[in-house]
Amino acid sequence: MKTLVGTLLQPVSQTQCHVIKDSAVQIGDDGCISQIVTAKASSDAAGDSQCWIIPGFVDAHLHLPQWQCRGIDGLSIREWHDKIGAPAEQRLADPKAATKQAEEFTAGVIANGTTTVVAFGTPFPQEVDASFNVFAKKGLRAIYGLTLNDTGMSPGLSQHADAALDEARALAAKWHGKENGRLQYAFSPRSSVRCSEKLMRGAAALADMLKCTLQTHVADTSDELDEVRQRFPDHIDELELFADVGMLGRRTILVHGVFLDHYQHNEVTESGTSLVYCPTGNLFRQSGLVDYASHRRAGIRTALGSSIAGGFDPFMPRVAVEALQTAKAIKVHSLPHRAGAVLTPSEAWWMLTAGGAAAVGLGEKVGKIAPGYQADCLVVRPEKWIAELPPEQQISALLYTMTPQQIEHVFIAGQRVGP
Ligand SMILES: [Zn+2]
Repeated sequence: MKTLVGTLLQPVSQTQCHVIKDSAVQIGDDGCISQIVTAKASSDAAGDSQCWIIPGFVDAHLHLPQWQCRGIDGLSIREWHDKIGAPAEQRLADPKAATKQAEEFTAGVIANGTTTVVAFGTPFPQEVDASFNVFAKKGLRAIYGLTLNDTGMSPGLSQHADAALDEARALAAKWHGKENGRLQYAFSPRSSVRCSEKLMRGAAALADMLKCTLQTHVADTSDELDEVRQRFPDHIDELELFADVGMLGRRTILVHGVFLDHYQHNEVTESGTSLVYCPTGNLFRQSGLVDYASHRRAGIRTALGSSIAGGFDPFMPRVAVEALQTAKAIKVHSLPHRAGAVLTPSEAWWMLTAGGAAAVGLGEKVGKIAPGYQADCLVVRPEKWIAELPPEQQISALLYTMTPQQIEHVFIAGQRVGP
């Protein structure tokens, strides 16, 4: 049994986050939290009275091949893809390069306090297999899959629909549910403009049959929406296309949604689909500002994503702060002036942990520090003055000032995996 000691940050609902001083979190040999008691002086516990125990972060959208492509600004999205993104994927056709990449990616996200990733791989099955092997060995919780694309890609990355679906099915059969459920497979059509209808229908059917996640990008840029209209003139919009090919539902995670309108937000909610909000990525690539308050009004299950490498920062509290600042920017520029609701720090913590976990289908397993939950926890040593604040200010100050360097321990399923 392991014990973690410190002040517990406990997100309890979308609007509420509790702070419980002098807690001791006990972790059983099964990797689950067994109980939470009042801390006593102990020499073999991780943490102390000046530490905080926080659920590990959920990063619901990133691209593993683009880990070393962060922060390259000044290119159009098309140029970025051709010069940076595509070559980064292409070189991982070599399984040795893929293993090394997955090791760097895994160490990198864990050092930033991320315990669950929902990520896209490359179109190469040998890469996805090598990456799952690394996740298995290094202890990361991952929902991951082969990127599917058979339209408009450079020749080296383009697949044939039937072969790609066969490869994806074989990877899902090998990896979905492995490591006591820590690894899950995601059927991953890149986007509606990079896939044939056949490929999208096939991916949706397999995800449904094998009870896997399905992830894709939606309403990402205005150029892409023009392309959707040209390629699929018989469909009202991208969401109606996704509904038609079977891609909406409780297993589906849609990424971005920058250009979804009020009616489409309601469609997302009614279908039970989740949305990933990537504020740093949306602004870095100048796609647009997402009005998170309208997601909330529609009741969409929302997680946050670093969107590496459309986004530049893998540290999820930084992504959450960008969500808060974006909501404020929209508010101060809206008409009538300053009428909009902003996002609160408690809500940001919810999306980083329990809310994010629920949105990616893991809400019963991770995201909370409570008996029976998998022990995916961080032990953090923030600046000392934060402890002197009233609890609601502690929640805010911790979010805005926390750094990756303050993370002393990262546990996933009760195993210490870093930093
Ligand atoms: Zn993406």
